[in-house]
Amino acid sequence: MFTSQPWLETLENPESRRRVHEAAWLRGTTPGENFALDLAVEQAGLRAEKAGLLGFSSWADYALQDRTAPGLDAVRDLLTRIIPAATANARREKAEIEAEAGHPVEAWDWPFYAARIERERYRVDTSALRSYFELDRVLAEGVFAAATALYGITFRERPDLHGYQPDVRVWEVREADGTELGLFVGDFFTRPTKSGGAWMNSFREASTFFGEHPVVSNNLNIPRPAAGEPALLTVDQVNTLFHEFGHALHGLLSSGRYATLSGTAVPRDFVEFPSQVNEMWMYWPEIVSAYARHVGTGEEIDPGVLAAIEASSLWSEGFRTTEYLGATMLDLAWHSLAPGTTVEDPLAFEADQLRAAGLDPDLVAPRYRSSYFKHIFGGGYAAGYYSYLWSEVLDADTVEWFRAHGGLSRENGERFRSELLARGNTRDPMESYRRFRGGDADPEHLLRRRGLLR
Ligand SMILES: [Zn+2]
Repeated sequence: MFTSQPWLETLENPESRRRVHEAAWLRGTTPGENFALDLAVEQAGLRAEKAGLLGFSSWADYALQDRTAPGLDAVRDLLTRIIPAATANARREKAEIEAEAGHPVEAWDWPFYAARIERERYRVDTSALRSYFELDRVLAEGVFAAATALYGITFRERPDLHGYQPDVRVWEVREADGTELGLFVGDFFTRPTKSGGAWMNSFREASTFFGEHPVVSNNLNIPRPAAGEPALLTVDQVNTLFHEFGHALHGLLSSGRYATLSGTAVPRDFVEFPSQVNEMWMYWPEIVSAYARHVGTGEEIDPGVLAAIEASSLWSEGFRTTEYLGATMLDLAWHSLAPGTTVEDPLAFEADQLRAAGLDPDLVAPRYRSSYFKHIFGGGYAAGYYSYLWSEVLDADTVEWFRAHGGLSRENGERFRSELLARGNTRDPMESYRRFRGGDADPEHLLRRRGLLR
């Protein structure tokens, strides 16, 4: 879990906030049995040693062989471009927060005043919006409709096809000319035995060699409505539907000969790109006016409300980008160690590495610390936490391309499909990107989108 705890936004008592923050920040730093920091040091050392045995200068050097980023230098270059803009924004945010608080604020006060400013400045009551986001309507008139407008594909629910669980729904997906494309499985509601969060699964990958059609699913954790009541979504859940469906499209629209190279079987720093791009249609005016209608009256949502939500998401972006960059730099620091190097004092190592990268952990603490950075020590993200930013650079650049070329159209969709979605890993994804875009992605679009350019 993040360094910054959600409770900090609502705890009125500064002393309680300080205690919550310190309990989070010091997790796993007290020596004892299975001391997390010792394990981190040992694991980083073993990874460096393994990379050395394979002829690489570090684990990062080894891991990046299979990524779209050409190498560690390219990743560091990108981060070096973004760190000054992000920290400058974080400093500005801190100044606004101190003006609101009327006194200097510590790390544990920041989320409390940031949330207060957000409420006062944007006045968006997101809970009242749920009546405009009814699951079936968001799916049919939003998520599916955008895919039809872009790729010509159509969706028909097949109640005769049963999933692995009574809640699960199945749609057949067809090409514009009616030929079969595959099946889309929707598993939207939460249940006690279900994993948390949201994800896409591929039950069967597309393979033209075997003539096999893809079967993909989207899983969410929407609370099940009472019997006979419609399922109403939060803004975040609508966003998640569009996001996960971007992964589903990547699987469905694949035209790979071999299943192992098709669909989402792309490098880790590329796999989020199609799903991030698909989120753009959530705010596309003609899609919004079709899906965001009041469940009782059918009245359209006030377009200004969604615009305000989009605008409010920029507030605190300096903080969020900076805490993310902190975690990214820690990941790269641990995995850039040369074989045979030992880190004697991991906490000093952390602080030194962050400061050397131009980050100030006293201004904004990294999102994760070495003692609770499960992504890189317990998950598959070793030397890969940068991936979110890497693919978002492509995403922001692609959104600009769509906007410059008329947005939601079959022509644009076909180009995105044939050069990117359909290719899977049969061609270097960055090559696919250049063919689609006609050049490399410009990170400035990301900075502008996050409001970090001034
Ligand atoms: Zn995703």
